[in-house]
Amino acid sequence: MPTSLRIAVPHGVQLPRTLTEADAVDLVSRLAEHYGWSYQLFGRGVVEEHLAVNRDHPAESKSRHRLSEQQWRRVRKTAAWRSVRRVGIRAVVEAGLLDAAVRQAGLECLACGAALDAAPDLTWSHCASCLVRTDLGTLQQARCPATAAEKAHQFAESRCVRCGIPAPETPSQSRVEPVPDDPATRHLTVVPDAA
Ligand SMILES: [Zn+2]
Ligand SMILES: [Zn+2]
Repeated sequence: MPTSLRIAVPHGVQLPRTLTEADAVDLVSRLAEHYGWSYQLFGRGVVEEHLAVNRDHPAESKSRHRLSEQQWRRVRKTAAWRSVRRVGIRAVVEAGLLDAAVRQAGLECLACGAALDAAPDLTWSHCASCLVRTDLGTLQQARCPATAAEKAHQFAESRCVRCGIPAPETPSQSRVEPVPDDPATRHLTVVPDAA
């Protein structure tokens, strides 16, 4: 597999002259894993995978049909191939995955959109001023902030076993208040109803 070794890499990084395309794919994969990039590399392997002749030949099979350089160049010139990246990112956005990642990481206040620094199990995904205006029932119905997915609270006895929010049947609860500047305490405390 011929290799283009004239790749401009910043910061004086030198790619070894023996680097093959397969090595480059492996390098990108390892960089992505290290930095937490979510990526799908659409290279020639994806096209080979899609060929009818390879239907029964796994990627590591010696009998797998490989694209010649000339075939690969033809694929790269097609309008369809040039659209892959744009269509791919649009599919991710339209599936709501970026919105969900922001929400699940607790990056923004669910009520006003303010940026949040602290972890969601400290903020309940609300800024301090919105948290005091949010009734406890809403937080009990919302996803559990101690999970990185769309999971509900897991109530056992009087609290969620994951984030510690009081269970709905807990008596004398009416509102919640943040507990600022106290890293040992979650930024949520239940204040009994004054009435
Ligand atoms: Zn807010
Ligand atoms: Zn919870």
